[in-house]
Amino acid sequence: MNGSMVMEWAEELGKMSESGPGVTRLFLSDEHRAVIQWLSNKAKEFNLDYFLDDSGNLVIKKNSRNPGAKTLIFGSHQDTVRHGGKYDGMLGIILPLAAIADLPDLSFNIEIIAFGDEEGTRFNSTLVGSSAVAGNFDESILDRIDDNGLSMRNAMQEFGIQPSNIPKIARNKSEIDGFIEVHIEQGPILEQKELPVGVVTAITGIERHVVTLTGQAGHAGTVPMELRDDALVKAIKIIEFVDVICKTTDKLVGVVGKLDVLPNAVNVIPSEVKLTVELRSPSPEVRSHAQKALYSKIESIKGADIECTYSKDGIHCDENLINELSKSVFNCIQQVETLFSGAGHDGLAMAHLTKCGMLFVRCKKGLSHHPDEAISHFDCQTAIDVLRDFLARKEAKLSLN
Ligand SMILES: [Zn+2]
Repeated sequence: MNGSMVMEWAEELGKMSESGPGVTRLFLSDEHRAVIQWLSNKAKEFNLDYFLDDSGNLVIKKNSRNPGAKTLIFGSHQDTVRHGGKYDGMLGIILPLAAIADLPDLSFNIEIIAFGDEEGTRFNSTLVGSSAVAGNFDESILDRIDDNGLSMRNAMQEFGIQPSNIPKIARNKSEIDGFIEVHIEQGPILEQKELPVGVVTAITGIERHVVTLTGQAGHAGTVPMELRDDALVKAIKIIEFVDVICKTTDKLVGVVGKLDVLPNAVNVIPSEVKLTVELRSPSPEVRSHAQKALYSKIESIKGADIECTYSKDGIHCDENLINELSKSVFNCIQQVETLFSGAGHDGLAMAHLTKCGMLFVRCKKGLSHHPDEAISHFDCQTAIDVLRDFLARKEAKLSLN
């Protein structure tokens, strides 16, 4: 199987979408079922085993000739954001499938998992499929409801899977020999460097805070400037602080993405502003340093308060997988770019189970979560070549032992 086949598959699968621009394919939907059917047919065609697990993951298996061999897992998510693209997630399922479809029997097992939910669009959940496989599934999210008031638990039952069986999905650490996800970069670096693929070294950690700034409302025409206590003017200081610290710190990005201003009127001095601060870094030390600086900035502003609402540590990819993927990239294009992922991925959950590696594929204008998401045929073929080289060298090494 080659790159043009994968490009054709992506077109076919992209049609399994709700109507509207781009691809909208939610967890446990009819479109999800269509993808499972399509992938099952492909597995059958290639003489691969497959099954649907009780968290909604389709697992495709290429069994080793050695009984008791360990399993290398490839995979990514089948779900999308609303009006997303054809490649975010899906590429990490169909590209490894194309890479292994016509390989001979190997001395290790390979699985390709199409995780049901990673984006969390339908139930405001995240990493459902990968956390079930990794054994760190949070059962409380089964009670989350979608826009129609249907709980994830009931939606799973209607889909024909049993959420009570999810704990049984968790894999045994001793049987798994790593997880590799192929994903579009979702950023501009590979395009800037004119490279088709790159090796990921870490997946970012994320933390979110809500800052409340309190001032004093007043008439915008009668209160003298020097007597004003304007909450929005205080907010500017925070926005600028976040921008500057992120621009001057390596491997740190951040944004103030949301502002709620009270009373939000053209002729009233703002009395309260609530704003969100999000910080991301693959390095826990960098993030903690930025957080401390942010908190001391808040302390220095009268009427400012901060609350942390979300925090998830990032992961470092496995050194050995980084090296082996880098060797394969070098063998294919003689140049290796390493980069960190500023977006969250299934590896965040899978790291609880096994060592993780990621291969990024260049995407047009760095665009993702958008109908215009695009990759080139050449880049797709290069990524397949990299996986094949990686698998061939792994097989050669194991055969020697
Ligand atoms: Zn994704």
